[in-house]
Amino acid sequence: MLTDNQVGEIKDFLSGKKKIVLTTHMNPDGDAIGSTVAMLHYLRKKGHDVKAVAPNKFPDFYKWIPGSEEIIIFERKSALSKKVLQEAEMVLSLDYNAFSRAGQVAEFVKAASGKKFMIDHHIEPEEGFDYYLSTTKTSSTGELVFDFMEMMGDLDLLDKDIAAAIYTSIMTDTGSFSFASNNAKTYYVSAALIEKGIDTEKIHRLVYDTFTEHRLRLLGYAISERMLVWPDLHAAVIYLTKEDLNRFNYQVGDTEGIVNFPLSMDGVNVSVLITEKERKVRLSFRSKGDFSVNDLARANFQGGGHRNAAGGQTNDTVHQTIDKIKSALEELKNELDYKLSY
Ligand code: MN
Repeated sequence: MLTDNQVGEIKDFLSGKKKIVLTTHMNPDGDAIGSTVAMLHYLRKKGHDVKAVAPNKFPDFYKWIPGSEEIIIFERKSALSKKVLQEAEMVLSLDYNAFSRAGQVAEFVKAASGKKFMIDHHIEPEEGFDYYLSTTKTSSTGELVFDFMEMMGDLDLLDKDIAAAIYTSIMTDTGSFSFASNNAKTYYVSAALIEKGIDTEKIHRLVYDTFTEHRLRLLGYAISERMLVWPDLHAAVIYLTKEDLNRFNYQVGDTEGIVNFPLSMDGVNVSVLITEKERKVRLSFRSKGDFSVNDLARANFQGGGHRNAAGGQTNDTVHQTIDKIKSALEELKNELDYKLSY
């Protein structure tokens, strides 16, 4: 966390016009985009020259967020992205805890001569940054942007567009307040956002009720044809091959949320989604209760995240990956055998 001295330093730094670049992680999600856009608006209102860079495309259902169109996609505009990062006097890392999570952008964040400032809520932040606003005791990075504005004494700059972006962060990172949100402060912050005039029902619909027919059919297919349930292990796995994704005309974001469905079964405590990509296999993990998918992802799949939500990857085939998950879970069988109670 930031010390009082650091808060003072940052206030001084931000008291004159600065070139600031915001960065976020690969495959940006609602919190990545929400926190980036919120910070973009806030720092611009303070008079800074602000740019935002994301490693790759983000889903269409976040494009309604005012300001999201300004995010420079590194994959499409690498020269511009490199240039702004080189010129930056401060680089913010939003919603990621290790340089490598920024994919192709990572080396340019690392090499940047500006001050490096991580604002994030994943465990074990990597060393190498000048400042950290990093805690797991929050719903989302978006909520931390609110906290940061408060620390800077700038809550008067909170407006409807910033509020909408932060609300998107909180809503998406808590599964619409169903996890990572058992904290009164998250609701006080949300109340302050609503007071700025956002329409939370509309935001929910704009993010969640914009499926294409293909996407909804892919979800149905994933659950009916590609889900393995291992009752002894209290676990379920869904796998989607490249062919499956092509068949349903896959678009970025179409698999978002699929991993949560197996957890809706009583007795299933861990869920894994395996997606076959061009050169690797991507994994997404969820759990309910005490079982840590962060540990599972870290130990076996070059990944991590939070206790109940994590990601990973592997160069194995889909079927090798399924076997590997099964044997890893068999080792942890005792840890998985629990039932939630009130
Ligand atoms: Mn997040």
